[in-house]
Amino acid sequence: MPRFRKSQSLREFQVFVKDVYGLPNDRSYSLGNLLTQQQRFSMRALKGIRKKDRKKIKLNLLISFSWFMSIANRLHIDVEDCVWKRFPMLCSYCAGKPCRCKKIKPPKRQKVRIDNALRPHALSEFQEMFRLIYPAKSRTLADAGVHLAEEMGEVAEAIHHYYGQHLHRQFNDIQCEIADFISCAFGVANSAKIDVAEELGKMFSRNCHVCHDAPCTCNFSSITKIKT
Ligand SMILES: [Zn+2]
Ligand SMILES: [Zn+2]
Repeated sequence: MPRFRKSQSLREFQVFVKDVYGLPNDRSYSLGNLLTQQQRFSMRALKGIRKKDRKKIKLNLLISFSWFMSIANRLHIDVEDCVWKRFPMLCSYCAGKPCRCKKIKPPKRQKVRIDNALRPHALSEFQEMFRLIYPAKSRTLADAGVHLAEEMGEVAEAIHHYYGQHLHRQFNDIQCEIADFISCAFGVANSAKIDVAEELGKMFSRNCHVCHDAPCTCNFSSITKIKT
């Protein structure tokens, strides 16, 4: 029985999503459909921010996070690797920890040196890494939400570009944008004080969080009825 435990890694969560949702996704959802679902739940999380409803933020952010893994699975992209290459315990732009982008306004992306000895293992350690690079006190929750929406758009753009020409560098851009989205998802979680690993552990203690089957047997009409 597939389940996710709070001590597990980001990669293990991605595999869990593949085990539970890979089959129904491949049968019933195009990549565009997966993007729509992921965006739909991210937008609902943003509504939670506007309404100051932490429960709404939490549930929708987690559902969006799991649809996001389905997008990466469809593209055969290892999310954890992308995140680590883009954020090796440093801001991907100013190469600082904490990020100093606002202060020094670097004119271009700085070169980052990757020290693999610092690589987090558990998903919770990745969240902690982002807390250290981008402390919650440096922005409001609403700012974190706006940044999430911005990065969500950039993921969609990168995928559209790649589907247009199938160039290797365009595929690399998708990987970078995937890492940026994950950093913003953890950013919202850190600002809203949501422990992502712990909450995913509760939500996914037994297969799909709605039908509790693996592979998931939810159909589209039952998904639309979920109160989020
Ligand atoms: Zn920075
Ligand atoms: Zn289901």
